[in-house]
Amino acid sequence: MRLPDPALVVLVGASGSGKSTWAGSRYRSAEIVSSDALREVVGSGEHDLDASTDAFALLEQVVAARLGRGLTTVVDTLGTDVSRRRGWLAAARAAGLPAVAVVLDTPAGVCRSRNSARDRPVPARVLTSQLAAVASAVDLLEGEGWHVVRVAPDDVPDDAPAAAGEAAARATTSPAGRTGLRGVVLQLSHFPAEGDLLTWLRDMVAAAEQAGLAGIALMDHLVQIPQVGRAWDPIPEPWVTLGALAAPTTRLRLGTLVTPVTFRAPGVTAKAAATLSALTGGRAFVGVGAGWWEREHTAYGLGFPSARARLDALERGIETMKALWAPGTKPYAGRLVSLPETTCYPRPVGELPVVVGGGGDRTLRIAARLGDGCNVPSDDAGLAKVARYLELVEEAGRDRATVHATVLDLPLVGRDRDDAWSRVERHRGRVAAATFAARHHAGTPSEHADRLAGLVERGVTTAFVAPVGLAGPDDVLALAPLATAFG
Ligand code: GDP
Ligand code: MG
Repeated sequence: MRLPDPALVVLVGASGSGKSTWAGSRYRSAEIVSSDALREVVGSGEHDLDASTDAFALLEQVVAARLGRGLTTVVDTLGTDVSRRRGWLAAARAAGLPAVAVVLDTPAGVCRSRNSARDRPVPARVLTSQLAAVASAVDLLEGEGWHVVRVAPDDVPDDAPAAAGEAAARATTSPAGRTGLRGVVLQLSHFPAEGDLLTWLRDMVAAAEQAGLAGIALMDHLVQIPQVGRAWDPIPEPWVTLGALAAPTTRLRLGTLVTPVTFRAPGVTAKAAATLSALTGGRAFVGVGAGWWEREHTAYGLGFPSARARLDALERGIETMKALWAPGTKPYAGRLVSLPETTCYPRPVGELPVVVGGGGDRTLRIAARLGDGCNVPSDDAGLAKVARYLELVEEAGRDRATVHATVLDLPLVGRDRDDAWSRVERHRGRVAAATFAARHHAGTPSEHADRLAGLVERGVTTAFVAPVGLAGPDDVLALAPLATAFG
């Protein structure tokens, strides 16, 4: 069972039904607002009923403040007060958050025996009236507009650490043996400024192979881009670096995401990619794009023509690469490109896919007609472009089963909820925490695996993932559950 997140979650259950235990095993303590805990804050202890008024005043304030910021809020009270529920539901709606009522369906006898085992049990008749109040509340919830979830005792949270560990172990012990680009490709975009670069890269790719990922993609930029880091952060030349990764890897697909056609004559990129394909037994791919960042062009003495001219160059570039990789050395005369001969040895081994980055309509048309795949963001707008791309592929008379519909995904991955949240705090800069968490789907590896698996029905074959704050091999190993998301 996976609840929406962020969300308002209101617990409903008698004393001893297991509300606090359920919440504590799934949410960070700061996300749980508990009337008992607040009685202890403002009174003599959890059971200080004289402190209830003060405790509930604080509770309402905390709930309103958190929901107002779009933060997940778990309300741990009996949940039987209709007017409080109505207020919380309205606050969640105002904040645009889903409202979930979690009913603890624990048998009365179990509540009673747990209650009597406590240091300060609730009096038996109080518990009886709680049980009756819970039963009548349960009848009202749907009608009030709650999304109702019922939890039986001993429900093991499905993202408990043990379950995630098993998934990781499965992915690690059975290397996927996947062919092609299908699956999760790790995009490395941020590199350490200190220490030995080759050692770091070898450790990262060893972890990626162990985690069962499908490949490694490197950005092709001359200066580190502001979306990732500072201009003086290192960003190695990708084709040289991919050559270094050919040796220590045996399964991973290796390529760029994406090489701008404005950097090198496409024939030279074709030569580099064919060489990488030969060095890796056919594991190379080429991402290509029109180029977008003027600064790196001018800094390196390159021209930066108009958008239209760059797209023309992209079209010619793909045609040139494909012509050079075709069998033989015969002259080539195509729509836009003519070459007197096509002599390119060593030849690529097997498929050498060209993935075209960018979501503009002309880019998608070029990708559909000439390329072997597209690459767009993984958000809703990007997924609409995947659909458009697949339509264009069919319009071009091609089979959509033969192309790579890929997305770029920037997940924030935490070992558990606490770790995910501390990473949100570390990386969010001045962006509101809830906004940043939503933008990067902050969550555990198994949550990301479920989310990526959901992209398959949208036609996506491959996710290039560039996790926020990815630093070392442990962060890569943590991606193991994602490796199986594409089947
Ligand atoms: P609350 O009063 O509804 O918040 O209930 P608690 O979460 O404090 O749980 C009451 C008692 O039941 C505690 O001693 C828990 O350890 C125990 N408990 C809670 N959930 C479960 C469960 O799913 N299985 C078992 N066996 N014990 C549980
Ligand atoms: Mg409790």
